[in-house]
Amino acid sequence: MYSLKFDINVCQTCPTGDCLVKCQYLHLDRDTAVAEMVKIGKGEDSFVLNDCVTCYACEEYCRRGNHPFYLITEQRQEKRILTAPRAITRQWINIGEPQGKYRLGEVNKRALSFGFMPEFLSWVEGRLFEDVMPSYIFGQEFFCNVVYIHFAETNIIKERLPRVIDNFRKLGVREVIFLHDECYGAFAHLAPAYGIEVPFKPIHYYEYLYRRLTELKDLIRPLNIRAAYQRPCSSRLSSDQHHFVRDIMELIGVHLVERTYQDENALCCGGILGMNYGYDLAHEVQQRNIDDMKAHGAEACIFNCPACQSTLERLVAKQGIEPMHMIHLCRKAIGEM
Ligand code: SF4
Ligand code: SF4
Repeated sequence: MYSLKFDINVCQTCPTGDCLVKCQYLHLDRDTAVAEMVKIGKGEDSFVLNDCVTCYACEEYCRRGNHPFYLITEQRQEKRILTAPRAITRQWINIGEPQGKYRLGEVNKRALSFGFMPEFLSWVEGRLFEDVMPSYIFGQEFFCNVVYIHFAETNIIKERLPRVIDNFRKLGVREVIFLHDECYGAFAHLAPAYGIEVPFKPIHYYEYLYRRLTELKDLIRPLNIRAAYQRPCSSRLSSDQHHFVRDIMELIGVHLVERTYQDENALCCGGILGMNYGYDLAHEVQQRNIDDMKAHGAEACIFNCPACQSTLERLVAKQGIEPMHMIHLCRKAIGEM
């Protein structure tokens, strides 16, 4: 079984404790943050193991190359500290179980992965994708399974991810462009953290969209709208790709409002919070987030993750803010929608 690369000495000499000091749900000072992380690293009890709401952000906050959230998840699993009722956890585990119902396009060396997000089957069309389509991959057999870190179930990931990688290997792909942000995080961030070899180059779809928009720049009609961006938890596993949000918006004439809960300060959409930690917390976080979009004059809310979009779209629309996925925004900019 694969094991997490985590160096407790790095925490013991940490000057900031940024992982937990910046956590938007725990509110700790530096000394407490470092002390708790060292305890968790030693396998001791810590209140953090009960109170963390699995927003993934400390994976980004730690600038010293350790993996605080993966460690918290490992230790929760070890100590059987459940983050959700067993029935819900089991239901989610079953959702990702391969069923032999995957779909493949005409797969060649470069392919688009839709993960296990059926939305992409209808969303991915038009000129932005014409240099790769119909080379696509969809289904549980190619699903990263990273969602199970919300449920303290890293064993499921460690068991399934190598099988998923093997399925990609059998297709002979050299480059895979991931439209599911979390799948990209799985292959570019989580797999290396566990020493799992990835035999292809993972590419984030934001990098791909940016390049395609640049190639199609003669078609771009600046949209001239003010937008808020809803950053998903999974984006904390690919923070080096986050700059593409601004890069793309600048290219297509979208003004990204400078609001409180963006970039490093982003708030969870509330989907997992409601399911695992109760609707009071989910509603409070959603309210703060949407109030912030409104207060800064956002006309649209742009989503990366289809799951965040289905959680928040009705709520933002009720406030007169148009919900839109990044793919649709980019297609609109080149006159396709
Ligand atoms: S996980 Fe990173 S930020 Fe947190 S205490 Fe350790 S080294 Fe510091
Ligand atoms: S995952 Fe989020 S809630 Fe949990 S400790 Fe890290 S930053 Fe805090």
